Amino acid sequence: MKEDRIYNFNAGPAALPIDVLEEIKDSFLNFGGSGMSITEVSHRSRWFDDVINDAVDRTKRLLNLDDTFHVLFIQGGASLQFCMIPMNFLGKDESADYVNTGTWSTKAIKEAEIQGKTIKVVASSEDHNFSYIPKNITFSSDAVFIHITSNNTIKGTQWASFPDTNGVPLIADMSSDIMSRPFRVDKFGLIYAGAQKNIGPAGVCMVIIKEDMLNKVPDKLPSMLKYTTYSSKNSMFNTPPCFSVYVIQLVMKWLEETIGGLEKMAEINQKKSRILYEAIDSGDFYNGTARPDSRSLMNVTFRLPDEALEKRFVEQALENGLGGLKGHRSVGGCRASIYNATSIAAVETLVDFMKTFEQKNG
Ligand SMILES: *Cc1c(COP(=O)(O)O)cnc(C)c1O
Repeated sequence: MKEDRIYNFNAGPAALPIDVLEEIKDSFLNFGGSGMSITEVSHRSRWFDDVINDAVDRTKRLLNLDDTFHVLFIQGGASLQFCMIPMNFLGKDESADYVNTGTWSTKAIKEAEIQGKTIKVVASSEDHNFSYIPKNITFSSDAVFIHITSNNTIKGTQWASFPDTNGVPLIADMSSDIMSRPFRVDKFGLIYAGAQKNIGPAGVCMVIIKEDMLNKVPDKLPSMLKYTTYSSKNSMFNTPPCFSVYVIQLVMKWLEETIGGLEKMAEINQKKSRILYEAIDSGDFYNGTARPDSRSLMNVTFRLPDEALEKRFVEQALENGLGGLKGHRSVGGCRASIYNATSIAAVETLVDFMKTFEQKNG
């Protein structure tokens, strides 16, 4: 680690691979021999065309997407997708199923309801404070789509595998675990991810959409809120968030060329989470808040014996070069976000600190 940098466990915006940051720095004033910064070149130039096309191609290779999928870049974060999904896919007299596994699912549900759309919450883990992923869910046979949140950033739970939907397209908010593991894409109609957790800087949301979903988009919607506007213009109907797309391109390159693909990435992520959960489970001082069968490999949430100790833990961790360990303001406690760019060394350093802290305060 570079001595002026800390180990970053932020939930989002979050750590980016150091190789990516170095490459941005090195090419910042003269991008690709253009004599301009990537923040200065035209989005209608061959330089930017190469960037966005390479970002799309690498995404498709990493996730094994065939040509029936489009990869789009849309501003407005994951939160705009909460509103666009029902707007584009749910007609009058149609209904969709939602699974509520926490804050972000709740917000997605609210944005559909605001529009007067018919949705059914077919399963929820609210009864136990969203500490688990519901199992054996019965979906409606007439649902137009099924919406889930694949990883619950705030509560620290994650779907270990995706439910069987009987051919109904699955839509997933993968903001905090996209590109962390390989998965089969055939069940999915749409996947979206705000970039600032696992794949880039804030300012852009990656949307992966299946061709047949585009046929459902009504004509009479504002252009900027229609998926077809983005799919027909290679995400450049208007000026895209060029810098954010560029960083995503570099992160995809890092995943392919430095890590060696999503199988390898998943192995590293499994190892990191195993080290951390083992430390949490090794005694009574730290307590994991998610049910063990639902634990997230990306956001590890835990409590200490009392809030004063938690405050001291977060403060002293930062003094020791370990940042971002405070839990979300809505739930308190502690959270270590260990996204793709967080190294095994970072997690090992955190575990060493946890042991020392326990010895002094336990
Ligand atoms: C952070 C997050 C969001 C919100 O993303 P924005 O880009 O801020 O709108 C939505 N869903 C999940 C799962 C998240 O982690």
